[in-house]
Amino acid sequence: MNFHVLTLFPEMIEQGLHTSITGRSLEKGTITLHTVNIRNYTVNKHKKVDDYPYGGGAGMLMQAQPVYDAYRAVVEKISERKGENSKVPRVIYLTPQGRVFNQSMARELAGEEDLIFLCGHYEGIDERVLEEIVTDNISIGDYVLTGGELPALVLMDAISRMVPGVLGNQESGDTESHSNYLLEYPQYSRPEIWHDKKVPEILLSGDHAKVEEWRLERSLEKTQKLRPDLYQKWVSENEEYFIRKKKREERKKRNERKKEKKLAF
Ligand code: SAM
Repeated sequence: MNFHVLTLFPEMIEQGLHTSITGRSLEKGTITLHTVNIRNYTVNKHKKVDDYPYGGGAGMLMQAQPVYDAYRAVVEKISERKGENSKVPRVIYLTPQGRVFNQSMARELAGEEDLIFLCGHYEGIDERVLEEIVTDNISIGDYVLTGGELPALVLMDAISRMVPGVLGNQESGDTESHSNYLLEYPQYSRPEIWHDKKVPEILLSGDHAKVEEWRLERSLEKTQKLRPDLYQKWVSENEEYFIRKKKREERKKRNERKKEKKLAF
């Protein structure tokens, strides 16, 4: 996975991604990062990249020219590496007007070889260049930030976790919250007792099947309580789970009754 970021603040992106798991993945080469300072591409002799919006209104707007030239430079660099006829990579404009980002979008984007992120600033970017280069408009939530750098870092972090080899244990990406609508089950580490609270007995039992069953039950409880909207989605796609559970409980009750009868006899 090769990330290319068009930004006015490359140092923010570099520092953010060069930490923790993404930092280690950059060192290993599992992901790569190429930041491009849009300001380096302006033809303005004062290095200006913004101007007043036509029609008036608050604030300044990033101009089309430096954004477009920075984009062209990235595309050329990619086609030098991959060949002239290679697919032009997707360009993600981070914008509060876009589709709100989620885990399945992260998983889908992780399948790309190259992704270009475009970070806006000020009041945004001249619409004409957006129309020409952007393939995906993505938001990280219904609120307005100062720039697209934090959203780009959010996306790159979540996407990286879906790239094979980034997480030490690939399984942890598959069982985390939002991998299947369910929130992750509660987890515990040493010591066994802390503030008079004991780790649930089943987790110390070594019985993997029972632990898995317990975890699914706790995931369901937690999701129902904290995110009833996600719980409903899971239920509608997993009706057979409740049918199987009901059958298991009925079988258990029948067996208990049989045992009681035998004892009475
Ligand atoms: N005037 C714009 C509007 O109302 O849609 C908002 C501009 S915002 C101050 C500056 C830049 O921050 C945007 O161009 C975008 O790149 C980024 N940004 C702000 N909020 C965002 C969000 N929720 N998700 C993704 N990007 C965001």
